[in-house]
Amino acid sequence: MLSIISTPIGNLGDITLRAINTLKMVDAVVCEDTRVTGNLFKQLEIPKKEFISAHGYTDEGKINWIIERLKKGEHLALVSDAGTPGISDPGYALVSKARLEGIKIEVIPGPAAFLAALSASGLPIHQFLYLGFLPMKKGRKTLFESIKEEEKTIVFYESVHRIEKTLLEMSEYLKDQPDRAVVLGRELTKLHEEIIQTSVKNLVEVAKTIMKKGEFVVVIGPL
Ligand code: SAM
Repeated sequence: MLSIISTPIGNLGDITLRAINTLKMVDAVVCEDTRVTGNLFKQLEIPKKEFISAHGYTDEGKINWIIERLKKGEHLALVSDAGTPGISDPGYALVSKARLEGIKIEVIPGPAAFLAALSASGLPIHQFLYLGFLPMKKGRKTLFESIKEEEKTIVFYESVHRIEKTLLEMSEYLKDQPDRAVVLGRELTKLHEEIIQTSVKNLVEVAKTIMKKGEFVVVIGPL
């Protein structure tokens, strides 16, 4: 069996009991970075076990080798460095192949940064569009133009290196919608968590003053 397990996005207390019990029980853990998962085990005081690294560039050969182990009856866990595997993180290739091969899959849900940001945003979230990370170059302009027309709440991830650039671009592309709401979630669930409620017309100011440290989720309100 393959157990897909969400892990905290910052606050260790957000791991579920089911996640802990399953991590204790499995034969090995497929993870993104063995050091990060090793650290999680240490903090949770779970005795170390075999960690199989499978990041975004893992070749098909290794995925097949993991599948063979599952077929032999091993119980493996799939985790990513933080949050939910497969959500802007590796996991898709393995889960997809496991499903094709008829391997039993269970999911142990938990934190995901975009869900935390959406639920704290105060914006309508009965429907939303998740964009993952925005493209760095190709397709970026087209995407911003489509955001301009999008009627649903939009949520995406941004890195500390690009947050200023992205907020400035948003203020430019969406300048005809000055009152459109924007909520920024920074360091969610961590010590320096910040949730900034603003609107398009204030984005230049926010881009300049926002603390350029940590991890960011950007939520844009509906049209
Ligand atoms: N799998 C993860 C999830 O379920 O949310 C997402 C992994 S993705 C590689 C990492 C990005 O998620 C970061 O660059 C940031 O945009 C967002 N993120 C992760 N943790 C966060 C946090 N505590 N606060 C704000 N954003 C976070």
